[in-house]
Amino acid sequence: MPLITLREALTAAEDGGYAVGAFNVSDLNQAYSVLEAARQSKSPVIVQSIAGMNPYADEGWWWDRLRELVVSYDDVSAVLHLDHGSRYTDCIRAIEHGFTSVMIDASRDVKTGEASTFEHNVELTRSVVEYAHARGVSVEGELGTIGGAETPEDGVVEEIVFTDPMQAADFVRLTDVDALAVAVGTSHGSVKFTDAEGGQRLRIGLIEKIKSELPQTYLVLHGSSSVPQDAVATINANGGSLPESYGLNLEQKQEGIAAGIRKINQGTDSHLVWTAALRELLAKRPSEVEPSQILSSPLTAMQELTAQRMREFGSAGQTA
Ligand SMILES: [Zn+2]
Repeated sequence: MPLITLREALTAAEDGGYAVGAFNVSDLNQAYSVLEAARQSKSPVIVQSIAGMNPYADEGWWWDRLRELVVSYDDVSAVLHLDHGSRYTDCIRAIEHGFTSVMIDASRDVKTGEASTFEHNVELTRSVVEYAHARGVSVEGELGTIGGAETPEDGVVEEIVFTDPMQAADFVRLTDVDALAVAVGTSHGSVKFTDAEGGQRLRIGLIEKIKSELPQTYLVLHGSSSVPQDAVATINANGGSLPESYGLNLEQKQEGIAAGIRKINQGTDSHLVWTAALRELLAKRPSEVEPSQILSSPLTAMQELTAQRMREFGSAGQTA
């Protein structure tokens, strides 16, 4: 089947009462892992990438190859999505390269990192929606600040400004976004909350309130990785130095889905298991230099984690 839009994928999820996982990929190998998991799980999938986050010299080349790979899985119901587009031009470029969905994250000023005004967020988001909808592409916006570090080096967890339900209704009316990333207690990256109870912070009542104001818009959970402790331990046992940190547990995610979350971003977990498998293999086999031997372990770990999330979110079996 051809690529589908985010609105198509999330409309089906709303009807079926499940959520679709959005998995960040940084290279073609990772995209392979995610797509294999989707095929074997008979699950719809959102393959997403962040502008600038890939190892290739030419991002246009990478996006074209990524699109070709996703399209080649013609039995998989897939959305190709730009995650966290911070500039209008990033979103336009992604659409030109055949992405079927883009996120414009205008909740922060791209230069200062400060929270942007509501008016600025509306204006930038609406301009992307006008361009995208004219070309049949979906748009995800963000309201409130989700906070957190995208990489451990970024340091501290920032203050979270929760999404206001009434402002969310205004935002959707003024921008016509298809999906909305909401700040309801999660935090980005692998450094989240420094106590185990921190993983319990999802505001279910707030999700329900926002959803009741937005019957035609689909809610997205960012920063919702679980930070598997065994992967963190493996990384640290093999030369890594990740600080103690806890993410969102499975029960909270499933309660979120029951309250109306339809897209769950999983950027960190699959990268943690990928890194853990890679570090472990290199430590165990210090003389190995053949990439086919080195890479199969992290790719398998990422595929297994992805398939596990598809089962947990209820999307597995939905395209059977
Ligand atoms: Zn995010």
